[in-house]
Amino acid sequence: MKKRNRGINKMITKTQIQKAGFPTGVALLHDASLNKGTAFTEKERDMFGLRGLLPPRVCTLDTQVMRVLENFRRKSDDLEKYIFLMGLQARNETLFYRVLVDNLDEMMPIIYTPTVGQACQEYGHIFRSPRGLFISAKDRGRVPDLLRNWPHEDVRIIVVTDGERILGLGDLGANGMGIPVGKLALYTACAGVHPRLTLPVTLDVGTENEQLLDDPLYIGIPEQRIRGKAYDELFDEFLVAAQDFFPHVMIQLEDFANANAFRLLKKYRNQTCIFDDDIQGTAAVALAGLYSALRITKGTFKDQRILFFGAGQAGIGIGDLIVAGLVDEGLPVKDARSRCWFVDSKGLVVKGRRNLAEHKLAYAHDHEFLPDLLSAVESLRPTAIIGVSGQPGMFTEKVLRAMARFNERPIVFALSNPTSKTECTAEEAYAWTEGRAIFASGSPFDPVTLNGKTYIPAQGNNAYIFPGLGLGVIACGAKHITDRMFLLAAKALAHEISEDDLKEGHIYPPLAKIRSVSAVIAAAVCEVAYDQGIASKKRPQDLLEMIKSQMYWPEYWT
Ligand code: NAD
Repeated sequence: MKKRNRGINKMITKTQIQKAGFPTGVALLHDASLNKGTAFTEKERDMFGLRGLLPPRVCTLDTQVMRVLENFRRKSDDLEKYIFLMGLQARNETLFYRVLVDNLDEMMPIIYTPTVGQACQEYGHIFRSPRGLFISAKDRGRVPDLLRNWPHEDVRIIVVTDGERILGLGDLGANGMGIPVGKLALYTACAGVHPRLTLPVTLDVGTENEQLLDDPLYIGIPEQRIRGKAYDELFDEFLVAAQDFFPHVMIQLEDFANANAFRLLKKYRNQTCIFDDDIQGTAAVALAGLYSALRITKGTFKDQRILFFGAGQAGIGIGDLIVAGLVDEGLPVKDARSRCWFVDSKGLVVKGRRNLAEHKLAYAHDHEFLPDLLSAVESLRPTAIIGVSGQPGMFTEKVLRAMARFNERPIVFALSNPTSKTECTAEEAYAWTEGRAIFASGSPFDPVTLNGKTYIPAQGNNAYIFPGLGLGVIACGAKHITDRMFLLAAKALAHEISEDDLKEGHIYPPLAKIRSVSAVIAAAVCEVAYDQGIASKKRPQDLLEMIKSQMYWPEYWT
């Protein structure tokens, strides 16, 4: 879906160029948002003092893409590919995004899970140049000064982490910056949010990762995490300052540990435009996958028994959205909740258990306690199991064979990231269910061939939801982000899956369609905002067309 850049996503204008201060010469080549590298025309080379600073042959953007891909594919390991892409982003943003948009299938596993996980683990060692804003515990009392240093005035989306639960890899402290950077790149690639409207933020509140504390190349403050009042004050100062400087900003909480994630979301969700992707974004992607899977099994939504392995942000978030979906279909909340069961690190979540965390209480049903996943599967006979535990290999052969015994088409979502943390591999899921599983994973898997038949595993990728959500929030100027937005986003995503997709076993649309899918999700989000009276912009006549017209397309300014 190609569109000229209009609206807030517009390109550089002639007036801007003529304004004093527009960089020339080497400064222009070093400005990633303006740089065209070898694609500067003969005229531009004269106009901006570039003659001699570039090789004489003028290239097109397409030729540059060809060169990037050749270099990218020459790299023998994924971390090197990541480093190469980050270098390109720092050098020439337009080229970076064009490469991404045109080759999402190939690039997504590098800038996002699983490779971004390794990149975060080694961030201090592969560090080349800074990206985003680092706000440390030592900046309490002067956070506005840091935001003032950000070079762009109109920021619409901030992705912020405190690095405490990076994917399923645990506390990576300030190294977590790779996640906001990667997610925001996806806002641009998947939903056409102009890169200048995005800001990655890491709150460096310390780390409890001893390995990082001992590492001289660690990029964060080598101190223990601050907690309690000091933490809350820093977060609050950041949030207030962010809204002050960027009044239209939407804030995405990313990879916080679950106690802070639930708490911060609850505290701020009605005051500001904020959401937590691990709780709410994951939920919408999983629910969409479930809707599609039911089109294959021909099961009805209200007759499902869903067993979660892991009762943290992702698990409870998905459970809550499933409940919202069932309530939307007319089921009372209590009955809707009875469709969702959870196993956590101690066993089945049941009423008789003591000291259950608050977020699990709604799902503590009247049932005997069972110590593990297998006994829970045998007893509850779920139609679907959803892994969100960060514990690899826990969907064992016994568990999957039991699922295959109870279901003609067992639904198996192993969502833990990165690949090293997945509850089972695609091959295991298909092999241990005689190819009958409807499988989705958090990180991508290659197709699997079993007994001459090839299966294409789905990726339950949050990138199907959050970019479209952000685009919608910007388009209608939503003041808050509501649960209903995620429910309708999930429905919109599920609706984008054709019968042909399903026949081939896909439960999500192909990535090649993601920009048009994001536009549809954005429209669904806007509709909710208009219905709920929380949009600050007037509803246009043709909502979808307006949204599409605002999407940034990576091409050079002229
Ligand atoms: P979390 O820390 O909030 O929750 C983890 C849960 O797993 C906790 O309830 C914990 O009790 C449970 N757990 C830990 N060890 C266990 C064990 N041995 N047996 C049973 N349960 C156990 O983390 P989260 O944010 O919910 O994320 C969990 C995983 O889901 C991570 O790997 C994350 O990368 C992944 N995730 C994937 C997606 C996606 O694919 N779209 C999105 C969000 C999170």
